[in-house]
Amino acid sequence: MAERVTYFADVILPLALPNLFTYRIPHAWNGQVEQGMRVVVQFGKSRLYSAVVHRVHEKAPTYTTKYIEAVLDPVPVVTNKQLQLWDWMASYYLCARGEVLLAALPSGLRLSSETRLLRNPDFTGDTSLFDDQAFMLFEALDVRGTMSIEEVEQLLEKKTVYPVIRRLLDEQALLIHEELREKFKPKIETFVQLASEYDDEEKLRSVFDKLEKKAYKQLEVLMAYIQLSGKYAGTTKDVNKKELLRAAGEESSPAAFAALVKKNILVTEERIGSRLELGGTYDPEKPLSPAQQVAFDAIENAFETKDAVLLHGVTSSGKTEVYIKLIAEKIRKKQQVLYLLPEIALTTQIITRLQKHFGEQVLVYHSKYNENERTEVWRKVMTGEPLVVLGARSALFLPFGELGLVIIDEEHDTSYKQYDPAPRYNARETALYLAHLHLAKTLLGSATPSLESYYNAQQDKFGLVTLTERFGGIQLPEITLVDVKDEQHKKRMKSYFSQVLLDHITAALEKKEQVILFQNRRGFSQSITCNDCAYIPHCIRCDVSMTYHKAADQMRCHYCGYQAKPPVTCEACGSTDLRTKGFGTERIEEDLSIHFPAAKIMRMDLDTTRAKHAHRQLITDFEERNIDILVGTQMVTKGLDFDHVALVGILNADSMLHFPDFRAHERSYQLMAQVAGRAGRRNTQGKVIIQTYSPTHEIVQQVVQNDYHGMYVAELHKRKETHYPPFYRLIHFTLKSKDQELLHYASKMFADALTAHFGSERVLGPQPPAVSRVRDEYLDAILFKIEREASAAKIRKVIEAEIINFKANSILKKVRIVIDADPV
Ligand code: ADP
Ligand code: ZN
Ligand code: ZN
Repeated sequence: MAERVTYFADVILPLALPNLFTYRIPHAWNGQVEQGMRVVVQFGKSRLYSAVVHRVHEKAPTYTTKYIEAVLDPVPVVTNKQLQLWDWMASYYLCARGEVLLAALPSGLRLSSETRLLRNPDFTGDTSLFDDQAFMLFEALDVRGTMSIEEVEQLLEKKTVYPVIRRLLDEQALLIHEELREKFKPKIETFVQLASEYDDEEKLRSVFDKLEKKAYKQLEVLMAYIQLSGKYAGTTKDVNKKELLRAAGEESSPAAFAALVKKNILVTEERIGSRLELGGTYDPEKPLSPAQQVAFDAIENAFETKDAVLLHGVTSSGKTEVYIKLIAEKIRKKQQVLYLLPEIALTTQIITRLQKHFGEQVLVYHSKYNENERTEVWRKVMTGEPLVVLGARSALFLPFGELGLVIIDEEHDTSYKQYDPAPRYNARETALYLAHLHLAKTLLGSATPSLESYYNAQQDKFGLVTLTERFGGIQLPEITLVDVKDEQHKKRMKSYFSQVLLDHITAALEKKEQVILFQNRRGFSQSITCNDCAYIPHCIRCDVSMTYHKAADQMRCHYCGYQAKPPVTCEACGSTDLRTKGFGTERIEEDLSIHFPAAKIMRMDLDTTRAKHAHRQLITDFEERNIDILVGTQMVTKGLDFDHVALVGILNADSMLHFPDFRAHERSYQLMAQVAGRAGRRNTQGKVIIQTYSPTHEIVQQVVQNDYHGMYVAELHKRKETHYPPFYRLIHFTLKSKDQELLHYASKMFADALTAHFGSERVLGPQPPAVSRVRDEYLDAILFKIEREASAAKIRKVIEAEIINFKANSILKKVRIVIDADPV
C-alpha cells in the first residue's frame, strides 16, 4: 500500500523577519501547492497573512507546524527567477526576504487582514454566473461600501474566504481599497494634421485662393501649419495646436483655427503629449544618424562577448533613439525589454516616443500607478509576450518571462538607490543581476557615467561605446568661467550675480529666450570657508571637507568621525576672515526679481514642488514659455529637454565641490555637465556661465573642457588611495535608540565585534551623524569598508551572526540597526 506523502511549504511572510517559515500542506491539496503561489497562513496569535511559497518539500521540521489555511492561486504569480532575485537582494542588501516581498508585490497581490475590499463601480459582467457565496459577497459590498477580510469571514461564516475573493478579483468585480492615491494622468494634448484630401496640391491651392479672398486670418493659420509641419520641406511633422496658435499670432487665431477644423481642412487628434512633440522635430521613421548607427553597431557587436555595455553619449546625442532601435530588435525576436529611468517624471516624456514604435506593447509601471493598474501590468508581463516596460526602479520586480534586454538610462543617477524603507537597493546593480538571471543583455546609458560603471568598462567587465557629438550637429554649449573673488575685488558682484551673468541674462531675455539658474541644494550645508582664498578645512584622514556643527562649535568628518575645533586663521593663507557659508534658491529668486522686475521668475526646488502637481506644472509652464527664468536645485538637471533655453548659469560651483562626501567631485562634475547640457539643445549652441571661487579647480576645468576621462582618472586614483568604491564596498550601519547612553554603549559593542573580525582599518566609527537625533531617537553611524574582491557571502554571514548576537542580548535588543549596503 502506497504511503501518503506529507508535504511542507517554506513561505515568505510579508514581514521584516529574517527567516522562511514552514507550514504543512493538507493532504487534500497535495500537488496543488507550488513555488511562487500565494497561500494563506496563520502567524502570531490569530493573524492571517498571504505568504509566497518559496519551496515545497517533504522534510518535516522538528517543531510542530501549522497547516496552510488556503491556496490563493491556481498557478504561480511569482516566478522562480523572481524568487532568485529576491534571495539575492535579501542577501546583498542585508535585509529580510519579507521586506523584499513587500517592495516587490503590488498590494493587489498582497491580501492581508487589513485589506479592505470594495465593489468595482465599472463592473458590467454578468452576476448570475457567480456562485452563491460570490454573489452574497458582491451584494453585501453594494450595501456596506467596503469590507475587511474579517468581515467577509463573518459574512460567509467560514475561515477560508480567499478563494471567493480571488474569483471576484479575477472577474474584475472587486477592487482592493487602499489609501486613495492619485491616479497618474498623462498630459493630453491636441495635435493637428492637414486633412488627407489636401495632399493633392491642386486642391490645396484652391483652398489658398479661396481663403485669401474671404478669410485672411484662416489663411494665416493654414500657412503657419504648412510651415511648422515642414510639408514643403519634405518632412510632415505633427504639429501641436498650442504651438500652431502661437505661431499664427494668438489674438484672433483660435476662431480661425476652429473654422478650418469645421471645414475639415485641418483635423485634430488628442494624444498623450510630451515635450518632444512640442519641438516638432521627432519623426519615428527617421533613420539613425551615421554617428548613432556606428554606436548602435558597436553595441550589438559588444553584446556578442559582453553581458553589459555602457553607452557614454554626451547630452542630446540621441541615446534614446539608439535604445529604441535595440528594443525593436528584441521585440522582433519576441523578447521582453525593461527600460529603467531614475525619475517618474521622465517616464511621461518617453512614453509617446515609445508608443509610436511599439503601440500597445509599451507598458508603464511605477509607484504613482494605483495598485489595480499595477496588478494588471504584473499579469500582462507574466504572460511572457513581447513588450517593453518603462518604469522607475520598482519595475524590475515584474515577473519577466523572456527578458532579452535591460536599459538603464541616466545610470549615474542616485535616485536609483532606495534609501528607505528596506530593501535599500540600488536598481542599477539589481537590474544587472536580474539580466544575469535571464541571460539578458544590459545597456547602461549616461552623459556622465558613474565612476563604478566606467571602471567596470575600463576593466573590460562592460563593453564601452561612446557618442561624442550631439544629434543634428548642434554644438555642445560654450562654457565661460567667472572668478567670483576677482569680481568681488573689482566690486562687480551684485549680491550673488556677476556682471557677466547679469549681462547675459539681459541679452537672453531681450531675445525672448529662456534662462536656467542652478543653485545646489546642498549649498545650505554649513562648511567653514576662507573669505579670502576660499579654502575649506578638510579631514586629515579622508578626502572630504569637514562639516561645521554650530551647536557644538566643532568640525566633524562625516566619514571617519575625526573632529577638530574650527581654525582661527586660514591654514592656506593665514587670513582671519573665516565664515560659515551656504545660500539658497529662495534668496536668489528674491534678488533676481530686483534686477529683472519684468521677468517671470519661478523657483523649482523641494519647497516649491511639494504640492501634488507642482513639479509637472512648473515644467509645463516653462515649456510653454510662461516662465523666463527658472531658478532651481538639482531637480533642473534631470534629463529635462527644453527647446528655448539659451543660457544656463551655475551660481556657486564651490558649494558642491566641497561637500563632505567622497563622491563630491564626481557628483559636481555630473551636476555641472548635466545642467550645462540643458542649454541649446535644439537649433543653436547654448551658453553656460559658471561662477566660482576656484576657476582653476580641476573639476571646474574638466567641466569646461568636457573632459570626463580626465575627471575619471584623477578621481579613481583618489578612491584607490582612500579605500573607497569602486575598489572597496561600503556598508553603512546606523544604530538608533531613544536612550543615548545605551546607544553609545551598543554602537561601541557592535563596532568592536566587527573590528574583531575585519580589523580596525575596515571599521570606522561609531560617531554621531550630522543629524544625530531624529524623531527623538539618537543615532550613531558605523562605516564598514571591505575590499571589492572579498566574498560578499562570507561577509554577510559574519554580519548576520553578529546581529543575531546583538539581538540576543536583552539590553542591546532595544537598539535598532539600519543597514545600508553600497550607500550613495
Ligand atoms: P539624449 O537622450 O542623448 O540626451 P535624445 O535621444 O533625447 O538625446 O535626442 C536629442 C534630440 O534629437 C531629440 O529631440 C530627438 O528627437 C532628436 N533625435 C535624436 N536622434 C534622432 C534621429 N535619428 N532622427 C531624428 N531626430 C533625432
Ligand atoms: Zn575623515
Ligand atoms: Zn585663506
